[in-house]
Amino acid sequence: MEPRILELRGEIDRINRELLKLLSERARIAGAIGDIQTELGLSHYDPVREEEMLAYLTAENPGPFSDAVIKKLFKEIFKASLVLQEREDKRKFLYSRETKPEDTQVRVKNAVFGGEPLIIAGPCAIESEEQMFTTAEFLAARGVKVLRGGAFKPRTSPYAFQGLGVEGLRLGRAAADKYGMAFVTEVMDTRDVEVVSQYADILQIGARNMHNFALLKEAGRSHMPVLLKRGLSATVEEWFYAAEYILSQGNGQVILAERGIRTYEKWTRNTLDLSGAVLAKQLTHLPVVVDVTHATGRIELMAPLARAALAAGVDAVHVEVHPNPKVAMSDNNQQMDFEQFDAFLNQVRDLLEPARASG
Ligand code: PEP
Ligand code: MN
Repeated sequence: MEPRILELRGEIDRINRELLKLLSERARIAGAIGDIQTELGLSHYDPVREEEMLAYLTAENPGPFSDAVIKKLFKEIFKASLVLQEREDKRKFLYSRETKPEDTQVRVKNAVFGGEPLIIAGPCAIESEEQMFTTAEFLAARGVKVLRGGAFKPRTSPYAFQGLGVEGLRLGRAAADKYGMAFVTEVMDTRDVEVVSQYADILQIGARNMHNFALLKEAGRSHMPVLLKRGLSATVEEWFYAAEYILSQGNGQVILAERGIRTYEKWTRNTLDLSGAVLAKQLTHLPVVVDVTHATGRIELMAPLARAALAAGVDAVHVEVHPNPKVAMSDNNQQMDFEQFDAFLNQVRDLLEPARASG
């Protein structure tokens, strides 16, 4: 090798090492700025500051690189620092296992989400005293600890049955109390958080409201346990961000529910995203529920998918059960009748009571 080149390459190596040291030092300082910005709730991206730096860098550019090349090189450095600052942030999310490694348990009445696997069951909508009490009696006799039922229903058509409202809340509460169950019901509006909290043990935020940030914050301020459904077309990350809205208000009692996402598939009502549910178990410390009713809309798929979900380690499965689904006022085809629920339970029982089944 030509000795003059060798010598100059030695120079280049020395400068590379110096640049590396300077870049690392710069990254550490950018990280420290990022921490302060996070603490103050400021954005890491500051376009005015970037313009300012590019302005003096090009003004002081001695060449031989053109201003355009200098800008391009420094923009890459800025971008790398931003990515670093945002990655540091991720570690600080309240939902994250990196913030809290141990599983969160949410206790409601006799039920512990994050303890032994649970079933949440009950009708889609609360329709009458008789319907609610018969269902609660039937489910409680089978060891179901959490009763569901909608009093405020999010219906696709504004002309469809919208739920019984406060009268429904009252019926749900009374039925749950009579049979020693916890009661979960949906709240759709910030103005109803207070009244729903008076009757329910768990506030449900439905798929259609997962992006309703005002509602998430209000539920966060309520300090009630919250069952947060994943949005119809929400990514796993958006679902976790929605949980973060609740957690950031000081409410740590969040339960995540995967209820199927919209895909091109038409033979099921939605597509159960089991990967999303397992990611939720792995990346967050929150209890995770899989709603096989809304995920499939097909009764024959519910037991196999519940088995898959429980085997994958989720904390609860959610199903709709109605004494007479044919005359139900919503979701007729996807609610199980009592006989179907018994068959369902027989198919999943070994996964709900692993100790008893093997002992
Ligand atoms: C429900 O559980 O009653 C419901 C409407 O579910 P989702 O919000 O998941 O559609
Ligand atoms: Mn329903």
